[in-house]
Amino acid sequence: MADGFAKFISLDMSVSDPAGGQSLRGFALKMVFISISLSIVVSLAVICIGNALRILPLPVLDAVFYSVAMGWIVGGLVAGILCTVLGRAIRDLRESQAEFERLSKTDTLSGLANRRAFNQVFEDITGDASLAIFDLDRFKSINDNFGHGAGDMVIKRVASAIEDVFGDFHCVARLGGEEFGVIVCGGDRKDRVALIELARVRVACLSVNFEGHLLQTTVSVGVAEIEANRSKHDTFAIADKALYSAKAAGRNRLCHGDAYHARSEIDSGLARPLQAAS
Ligand code: GH3
Ligand code: MG
Ligand code: MG
Repeated sequence: MADGFAKFISLDMSVSDPAGGQSLRGFALKMVFISISLSIVVSLAVICIGNALRILPLPVLDAVFYSVAMGWIVGGLVAGILCTVLGRAIRDLRESQAEFERLSKTDTLSGLANRRAFNQVFEDITGDASLAIFDLDRFKSINDNFGHGAGDMVIKRVASAIEDVFGDFHCVARLGGEEFGVIVCGGDRKDRVALIELARVRVACLSVNFEGHLLQTTVSVGVAEIEANRSKHDTFAIADKALYSAKAAGRNRLCHGDAYHARSEIDSGLARPLQAAS
């Protein structure tokens, strides 16, 4: 009962999900209803006390009539205006809070999740997932030869190519610079590795037109399995080491940090560029 009342008078107004919260009009109507009810209850209590003490200046029925009428006018009109103004202010505040939260999790250049958002997902995930770290190969030479603007454009195009492969179901983030992190969830290990490999190939097939120059790049990928009995720190270190191995082995390839599994995937003929970390 108390919970129901608390929920009824709650100020929870949802911006993006009207079903989850309440609309501005709903909020104002509820507040008007509550203030009318309260003002009538308080007036009736005062009338009862005044009548008992015999100090009412009016007959009881007249006093009740006027108090109910005033309850509607004062409680309804004034509270209606105040609640509409207050409701607007709360809604604006919620909107800017939601926007602020979105921005605090988004990388401004690529539009992907940023490292902060990635870390949150990474910390919460428990198993049936793989971590992939993508690092563009010899990216510095694009900056050096064509300028920072060209480098930025390549980062954006690579980000959207990787995002296209993984979609919304997996967490795709720009970890910083020309490095991307992906948490590939669900399915079995082979399917996840095949998807990561597909992203690598997509990047290798990209051509970015910058002021008439066709820029091409490749990406090296380090992968590690996310397992319940392995710390997130270790998982990241394994994927990072695998990335280093992929670079050392000639770049534009995927290297799996879990050597045993990588071996079995190679044996099953999954992907030629797949290598075990040394
Ligand atoms: P490797 O194959 O070993 O990864 O070589 P690399 O050149 O990609 O790696 P390196 O770490 O030497 O260079 C990364 C460069 O990325 C250096 C830095 O100037 C550039 N960079 C980092 N962030 C940005 C960015 O936001 N925009 C642009 N255009 N360049 C960036
Ligand atoms: Mg690089
Ligand atoms: Mg790098």
